[in-house]
Amino acid sequence: MRVCVLLLLTVSSIFVFAQPEAQHGINVGDLDRTAEACTDFFQYSNGTWRKENPIPAYMDRWSRRWQAGENAKDQLKTILDDVSSRTDWPRRSVEQLVGDYYGSCMNEAQVNKLGISPAMPFLRDIEAIKNQNDLQQMMFRLHEMGIFVPFVTVAQPDNHNPTQTIADIAAGGLGLPDRDYYLKTEQRFQDAREKYKVHVANMFKLAGYDDASAKAAAQTVFKFEKSLAENSLDNVALRDPQNTDHKTAFADLKKMAPVVDWDSYFAKAGIAQVDLNVDQPKFMHEVDRQFRETSLGDWKIYLKWQLLHGQAGVLSDDFVKENFAFYGEYLSGAKELKPRWKRCAESTDQLLGEALGKKYVEKYFSPEAKARALELVKNVLAAMHDTIEGLDWMGPETKKKALEKLSTFNPKIGYPDKWKDYSSIPISRESYWNNQVAAAKWNVVQDTWALAGKPTDRGRWGMTPPTSNAYYNPLLNEIVFPAAILQPPAFDVKAVDAVNYGSIGVVMGHEISHGFDDQGSQFDAKGRLNNWWTADDLKRFQTRTACVANQFDGYFIEPNIHHNGKLVLGESIGDLAGAKIAYLAFQKAKQQHAAPTLDDFTPDQQFFIAWGQVRGDEIRPETQRKMVQGDPHPIAKFRVIGPLSNLPEFSNTFSCKEGSAMVRPAKERCEVW
Ligand SMILES: [Zn+2]
Repeated sequence: MRVCVLLLLTVSSIFVFAQPEAQHGINVGDLDRTAEACTDFFQYSNGTWRKENPIPAYMDRWSRRWQAGENAKDQLKTILDDVSSRTDWPRRSVEQLVGDYYGSCMNEAQVNKLGISPAMPFLRDIEAIKNQNDLQQMMFRLHEMGIFVPFVTVAQPDNHNPTQTIADIAAGGLGLPDRDYYLKTEQRFQDAREKYKVHVANMFKLAGYDDASAKAAAQTVFKFEKSLAENSLDNVALRDPQNTDHKTAFADLKKMAPVVDWDSYFAKAGIAQVDLNVDQPKFMHEVDRQFRETSLGDWKIYLKWQLLHGQAGVLSDDFVKENFAFYGEYLSGAKELKPRWKRCAESTDQLLGEALGKKYVEKYFSPEAKARALELVKNVLAAMHDTIEGLDWMGPETKKKALEKLSTFNPKIGYPDKWKDYSSIPISRESYWNNQVAAAKWNVVQDTWALAGKPTDRGRWGMTPPTSNAYYNPLLNEIVFPAAILQPPAFDVKAVDAVNYGSIGVVMGHEISHGFDDQGSQFDAKGRLNNWWTADDLKRFQTRTACVANQFDGYFIEPNIHHNGKLVLGESIGDLAGAKIAYLAFQKAKQQHAAPTLDDFTPDQQFFIAWGQVRGDEIRPETQRKMVQGDPHPIAKFRVIGPLSNLPEFSNTFSCKEGSAMVRPAKERCEVW
């Protein structure tokens, strides 16, 4: 089977888009012609678009790509308005589930009238906790509805035998974006901590606490979470799969955190008491300590906070607004809350994504688009094949393994072959809270925990079709492109090859390259966390990746804040290799079918401009700071400038001279793949 795939990749003819009349090229109106392509290609390729398209008040970033994501929501709205306008759909049909879920969410008057009352039974039960057993029962109830505190229990393919799915216990339990927010000493983190405490207190006040008890509760929550943070790995450490690989026998989990009644937890969760993975044993020791040493009173406050925090979006407007004031406005810089219908569409997508996605695909994703996208992926995979074969720094032994891994790549395009069946979830027009809790519970219990201990289902998707994004999963060695990313401007059947290869082609190259970045390269052709490199080749690879980490360490967003090269390394390798192999695939496509010069730009110029335009984000300063701290993706500006300034293909295309800002000096230039 693997051989067949390999043959397909190497001998398949290069797919070329049929070129009917009226195919469009890049968006010339987006260019800032006062800027120089060789000095600041980001500004040159999209500066006018950014100037003319300010970030909408409810967004924290904006570009043609983000705009496309919002367009997908407009498309969802037509579906949601339609199905929710009727209440006579057959019970448990896709239309009834989606329509009633969205309809109950859109009933803002009722949600506001209910105020905090839907959460009251939980808050009362938390208050009634009398002993360790009650406490753990309540923790389990919260886990069931997706509020995973203080630890997270999911299911994922076994790192060492990915054909089997096992339970995975990870660290969680924080209200700030990551552990560094609790610990770093820079002023901006100190400020965030103070604002966070005010926010936590405000949420308690909305739940009926007086000012003094709300403030005291916020201190308790902060102290509890800070202790979890101190025992959690940071964002960089979390990127190395070795650091979270701890296959553990069930009996040893019981030794790791003996105070937790794991027998009862696993039995109720329906998870077999067999080997599992514990991401962070040190964190589990801390969980055990908290159970033993923290008073029941403090636990109750922590659980109440996490319930209010996790469910804020399902409660009345006062909770929604307070939640937005901290997470949306203060931490991300958005100016206004998203319209309710967008929040309801997002919630429907999050919890019933493949029901809504089925309708979305029927209406907005053509078989023609799927076929073309698949061909494009194959061509970019073939370019990666050529690139690996031609590497001068990699020995034949490692090359063979790299090619073997490439041959087992599984591209998924648009939507799953088999849709999830949500028909057992009780959903009605009656109550948004009840619907949300029932759907969340189904997603945790039936759609996550139930997978543990079973053979891995390779047909599952980790993103819903209406998601404007893509991913690589090293355990399944799959690259996945949901229908909503396969829309203009990233992919357009009416665009010339240069534009499609320069936009979705680079995205595809990026996802393929994740299989060979600092993380993905540790997984073999079968998806196992298993070193397939010779020692010398691995050393050479690491020298090359260190070049990219150094490059991004040098990118500042503000005078004292720069990217963390090790945090953004995988994404930056993905962009660098992705741009290169998509460019190579485009060169082959041109041999089959001459690409036109359009608007005075050569095909190769169009290719690079397309990438600059797809990544043309304008971004709020708050979101930029948050990303630099915790997001493995660099900000868009450096996703354009970073990779292209390493590529001779770029500098040749625009005739950039040595010494230009967009041409890194030969000695500093990075090339990984
Ligand atoms: Zn990526």
